[in-house]
Amino acid sequence: MSDCLFCKIVANEIPAEIVYETGRTLAFRDINPQAPTHVLVIPKEHHADAAALAQADDGLADEVLKSAHEVAVLDGVSEGGYRIVFNTGAGAGQTVFHVHAHILGGRDLTWPPG
Ligand code: IMP
Repeated sequence: MSDCLFCKIVANEIPAEIVYETGRTLAFRDINPQAPTHVLVIPKEHHADAAALAQADDGLADEVLKSAHEVAVLDGVSEGGYRIVFNTGAGAGQTVFHVHAHILGGRDLTWPPG
């Protein structure tokens, strides 16, 4: 999508600190980190939110989840505990409508989230 921020990162039109990439997924550091590890994992293909990703019936959601775990391993937070969050819909705090998993770790994470 031409007006989508994360599609522009995929297309290399906007810079990002890439931490992991597969054929169909991309992981880059959040520009406003909320934890020592705060990485976003996206499918390169545009889907608006987690609900749309869940309906992409070709294993893409699996690949995003596997990439999320790989990021946690690479960033050294997989042992200490980390959180994978998909804000889904404006009411849940989603602001960028290209589905992304937040990978948060490296500090104690409280529950419930705000
Ligand atoms: P959401 O609120 O769940 O949609 O998360 C969007 C996230 O994208 C926020 O945590 C933002 O800080 C992050 N973000 C916005 N623009 C950029 C960017 O250009 N690079 C990296 N992260 C970004």
